[in-house]
Amino acid sequence: MSDVLNVSEIFGKNVFNDAVMKDRLPKNVYKKLKKTVEDGAELDPSIADVVAHAMKDWAIERGATHYTHWFQPLTGVTAEKHDSFISAPSDGKVIMEFSGKELIKGEPDASSFPSGGLRATFEARGYTVWDCTSPAFLREDAIGVTLCIPTSFCSYKGESLDKKTPLLRSMQAVNEQALRILRLFGNTTAKRVAPSVGAEQEYFLVDREKYLQRKDLIYTGRTLFGAMPPKGQELEDHYFGAIRERIGSYMNDVNKELWKLGVPAKTQHNEVAPAQHELAPIYEGVNQAVDHNQIVMETLKKVAGRHGMACLLHEKPFAGVNGSGKHNNWSLTADDGTNLLNPGDTPHENIQFLLVLACIIKAVDLHADLLRESAADVGNDHRLGANEAPPAIISIFLGEQLEDVIDQLCSTGEATHSKKGGTLRTGVDILPDLDKDATDRNRTSPFAFTGNKFEFRMVGSSDSIASPNTVLNTIVAEAFKEAADKLEKADDFDMAVHDMIKEMLAAHRRVIFNGNGYSDEWVAEAEKRGLPNIRSMVEAIPALTTDKAVKLFEAFGVFTRAELESRAEVEYENFSKAINIEARTMYDMASKSIIPAVIRYTTQLAASISAVKGACPEADVSTQTGLLMETSGLLSDMKAAVSRLAEVTEKAACADGGIAQATAYHSEVVPAMEALRAPVDKLEMIVDKELWPMPSYGDLIFEV
Ligand code: ADP
Ligand code: MG
Repeated sequence: MSDVLNVSEIFGKNVFNDAVMKDRLPKNVYKKLKKTVEDGAELDPSIADVVAHAMKDWAIERGATHYTHWFQPLTGVTAEKHDSFISAPSDGKVIMEFSGKELIKGEPDASSFPSGGLRATFEARGYTVWDCTSPAFLREDAIGVTLCIPTSFCSYKGESLDKKTPLLRSMQAVNEQALRILRLFGNTTAKRVAPSVGAEQEYFLVDREKYLQRKDLIYTGRTLFGAMPPKGQELEDHYFGAIRERIGSYMNDVNKELWKLGVPAKTQHNEVAPAQHELAPIYEGVNQAVDHNQIVMETLKKVAGRHGMACLLHEKPFAGVNGSGKHNNWSLTADDGTNLLNPGDTPHENIQFLLVLACIIKAVDLHADLLRESAADVGNDHRLGANEAPPAIISIFLGEQLEDVIDQLCSTGEATHSKKGGTLRTGVDILPDLDKDATDRNRTSPFAFTGNKFEFRMVGSSDSIASPNTVLNTIVAEAFKEAADKLEKADDFDMAVHDMIKEMLAAHRRVIFNGNGYSDEWVAEAEKRGLPNIRSMVEAIPALTTDKAVKLFEAFGVFTRAELESRAEVEYENFSKAINIEARTMYDMASKSIIPAVIRYTTQLAASISAVKGACPEADVSTQTGLLMETSGLLSDMKAAVSRLAEVTEKAACADGGIAQATAYHSEVVPAMEALRAPVDKLEMIVDKELWPMPSYGDLIFEV
């Protein structure tokens, strides 16, 4: 059968991966490159020409005409500038060229990318630098075939202007410190410890025709108006429901595209909200996982277009309907296969695991503000703290088994046993009995231990996962370092490590919470425990530049103070710009579409009243009159809200930049937007559907 899909044949087909390099590169060059990729050795620039040549031949054989340095500026999405391989024509003929220099270094005009003041406008130079630890790949689309080379993006002075550079720096930091911990426990063979990450990606699909009728979706990625449909997600019939044909054929195409690019797409299912779905890949090294998540987001969008749909990655495309997130599953794996977060069957005896766990608990407690900040983006403000996503308070869920071990340690100083999961019995003879996990799940915790990894659930669906992982790697590196500094000097290691675990747990236990993270009691309890509850992006950003943060990031060479300040600046700017666009879009839709539609409706009502009265003076027109009164009342509320929105937006736009401007948008423009939305959503429920100028929530999420 020719139409059988052979996944193993297409997987990685468009990737210049290890197998291809082994096949196409001279042995000594391959070995040198491998040393950089696997051992983190410095790249030998003399091999660049040979690699570039092989890469070009491979790409051209597959139809590539262009190459691009693919990078991740602080816009949160990827950027690229395409160059063709052609040389300057001679005798009217061109040859296809690609040099080592072009592979290693690019120079996009950096002045148009956000730098938060790191570069003055006259210093426009920025460089993209080849990251050979993330393989180059071929992208096939309407433009043709393009060779994409993953790169870091830095300023002339070497300051990072992107998301990848600090991530790579943080990987170095955690590698170095984690190896010290392994050595303390007698592991002499592991050469590297790297974070492993699997990012579950949620998204919505809507019909493209309907999408194009909504300016809010086009300009802002979310709906700015919209009354709730008669049916929401209350029946829970969508979650894990059978996947419909149109969606299924989309998912099938997405998988094929991703597999060709070497992205190990694994799981797919319908999510809680109607029209919401999820895709999860198999976990990989964090650098690869970050790049692959960008590819996943691009692919979800691109393939949707081919299927007559639009993919919404926004954290909250529809008010009142579940939003979308990205669960960042994180663990630490050594090159000998050891997962440092694997408790084994008897965690109470696994001292290395308990030390690693205690370090992570300490790190998360000390730097909860930074983790919260790393998940802040404009869209996530609608989600964090709402009754659907993890609350804005950072806490750790460990589950019954580990909680019990910690209880034993803290109360008696000794942990003597680990609770077992027992057996799951269904009471049906033909179903086998199963061993249960020692711990149930908790869906409401922002940072949950799930067997052999932590799952950070705050990250927004449209955001890059680079920042959360950069923070995680660095804060854990710090805790490891502090532990190793002491333990390496200890006379009695067993005693010292035992005391250290107990002390760390006692000092940082307050961040552990196994209950319902959505409850009001937790908010009160967390406040008592002194845990920060940072409710918005604008309030989260200052965490980046505290003395504590600067000390941490500088100590591990992840960010300088100037880099942190620039990032904070860029985030304030991103926030202000996004809200400014939303406010202007609302203004535009309200003034040009909604008000005219409502006026048309009131005119019809008025005409109907006169006509009925004229035809039959005794007729009861109180219904029409009532509607006319109500509609006119809402219309004037709406008009007042439009004027108010215009006024505060204008004021915010003129405010000083940075925190002052972002605060103006957050505390004045956002409430004015909500105030405009309220009468409009009421009007949508009254005005003739034929006249309403855009598809409703029901049209969008139930008729895909
Ligand atoms: P769960 O249902 O517990 O969330 P899944 O098997 O669905 O677990 O995994 C969710 C994501 O976590 C997947 O992307 C998976 O590859 C990833 N994952 C599994 N184990 C690890 C690990 N040790 N480190 C990082 N990610 C992991
Ligand atoms: Mg999960």
